[in-house]
Amino acid sequence: MPNRRKFLQTSAAGLAALATGQVAAGPAARPAAVGKPVVISTWDAGLNANLGAWKVLKPGGRALDAVEAGVMVTENEIGCCVGLGGRPDRDGHVTLDACIMDEQFNCGGVAALERIKHPISVARRVMERTPHVLLVGEGAQQFALAQGFPLEPDKLSADAEKDYREWLKTSQYKPVVNVENSGRRVGPVGGKQNHDTIAMLAQDARGNLSGSCTTSGMAYKMRGRVGDSPLIGSGLYVDNAVGAAAATGQGEDVIRIAGASLIVELMRQGLSPKAACKAAIERVARIKGAKARDIQVCFIALNNRGEYGAYALQKGFNYAVQTADGNNTLLDCEYLLP
Ligand code: ASP
Repeated sequence: MPNRRKFLQTSAAGLAALATGQVAAGPAARPAAVGKPVVISTWDAGLNANLGAWKVLKPGGRALDAVEAGVMVTENEIGCCVGLGGRPDRDGHVTLDACIMDEQFNCGGVAALERIKHPISVARRVMERTPHVLLVGEGAQQFALAQGFPLEPDKLSADAEKDYREWLKTSQYKPVVNVENSGRRVGPVGGKQNHDTIAMLAQDARGNLSGSCTTSGMAYKMRGRVGDSPLIGSGLYVDNAVGAAAATGQGEDVIRIAGASLIVELMRQGLSPKAACKAAIERVARIKGAKARDIQVCFIALNNRGEYGAYALQKGFNYAVQTADGNNTLLDCEYLLP
């Protein structure tokens, strides 16, 4: 399924299948598998991240190595919402959340980690070198330093500093969809506040799945606030026998429905990746009622046949797909609210 037209055709077939309640009925209801390997990731930053992952996947590397290398590309970029270039919390500190999961239920995460450039790699060390799944705050930083990660300067990027000073003028804290940005940027009102996350799912040539997720979280969040992104089962989940899913958007509402885990369970019941993402979004919308319009939630999913899909609550989400035919494509995601 290399190009957008084919994607849209497949999506239309999926919608028709949904209407007749036959999502899991048979091969005709399913999107075409794209062949191995494949990697998908959130937002337009995913295009570059996919290239990083592809360097590992193309020569036959492991999905786990690919999803780490892929999102490290984004952690290195000075963007608004991932890595140390991200927007700070309301007290002016950039705090990072990340998690990673492989094909054997091994998983690790860090939350509220400060002054470490690659939280995803620390998450992997938590997975591989501790008996735990999640380390937070000071303890996570101590662990990172003990593992040889350098302590970065306690300093905001120039853009983040400027935006933060602007935000301080009103210090309003109310997550909303910023319509001027087509719904892409979500965060507290006023100025250019926003939050995005790079989440990545990959299947390697051997058919194994892995996933990663990394973010600086919601801009100007309360000190100590942790979203869905470092939480296995919410921001990311992988079951090699079924598929993998990941989230971006309003973390609190992803956690509320255990989003990624829910989607994997729905795929286990036979739903396609897109139908499973859509069902999870519908659940968020049901729970939030009229308040659903104030937030954005988006999911991506990849099953163990190499079929992928995504769904968002509101307009504006896109995701990048790199397939075995060499195409790395940015796709506009379907959404629930008109
Ligand atoms: N999910 C992230 C959080 O709530 C932010 C985002 O994806 O934009 O921290």
